[in-house]
Amino acid sequence: MKRTIIINSNSLDLSIKTRDVLTEKLICAGFNVSYNFDSAADLIISIGGDGSFLKTVHDFDFPEIPILGINTGHLGFFTDVYPNFIDKFIYDYKKGNFILQDIPLVQATICTKGSCIDMFAVNDVVIKGDKSRTIHLNLNVNNKDIQNFSGDGLLISTPTGSTAYNYAAGGSIVDPSLKLMQLTPLHPINTNAYRCFTSSIIFPHDALIGILPEYRFEDSLLIVVDGVEHRFERITSISITTSDVFVKLVRLDNYEFWSRVSEKFL
Ligand code: NAP
Ligand code: MN
Repeated sequence: MKRTIIINSNSLDLSIKTRDVLTEKLICAGFNVSYNFDSAADLIISIGGDGSFLKTVHDFDFPEIPILGINTGHLGFFTDVYPNFIDKFIYDYKKGNFILQDIPLVQATICTKGSCIDMFAVNDVVIKGDKSRTIHLNLNVNNKDIQNFSGDGLLISTPTGSTAYNYAAGGSIVDPSLKLMQLTPLHPINTNAYRCFTSSIIFPHDALIGILPEYRFEDSLLIVVDGVEHRFERITSISITTSDVFVKLVRLDNYEFWSRVSEKFL
């Protein structure tokens, strides 16, 4: 039986061209190709940048099928192949010259008066105000109060997301072999009116981070999940922990995290 590979591309010209070339080459190499989700497929290929990779993961609802990224985008932390190396990739893939990297997800449970919903993120979950006013959040871990936060918001990142928004907000880059969650304050206020922690806090992966909003001026909050905004009215509580679901990322033999960090932005 022929093995099926799903291709999900963004709409850039180069991505569409790459998709067409890749389709032809995969068919020549004996694979079936689908542009739609197929639960029997062996591999998903996302064509674009990191944003497209994240969109593929969310659109396909955190699939069990491994995902490979082909970079036609900007940065490409998740992507391991460039369009001009497709032949080499197909050769390596058929030979099994690749590893699967388990990517942990953070899970945020958002409760309003009537109900709770679960959201999952590869990179990060950000809690911020709907308008530009200061927000006030009570922070606890495993039901022990830490401190009230006042400022723009709180960002909780996975080790994978540590190089994204977290890094821009002054958080630390995390080696992917570590199991943890990093909570980074966004513009915390430190005055005689409001006191709050100014650096990131590192929690073990299985900690239960609790956030209780205090509504002083606004009663709606934005929950930004991997860069996508969700607006909520009157959240009563937010609980965040590491999910037991993983996404499997295809890494080629030459992948090494710290070389990628130094080549991409240090
Ligand atoms: P975007 O606004 O286009 O992303 C901003 C940049 O982050 C892009 O260059 C993207 O790479 C890069 N990126 C994404 N995930 C990364 C990772 N794990 N490590 C290093 N860089 C990464 O939006 P997007 O492409 O949909 O990505 C969503 C992410 O953007 C969010 O999860 C958040 O972390 C990040 N973000 C960052 C800021 C900030 O730095 N101030 C603000 C908002 C959101 P590509 O160019 O390859 O897409
Ligand atoms: Mn992007």
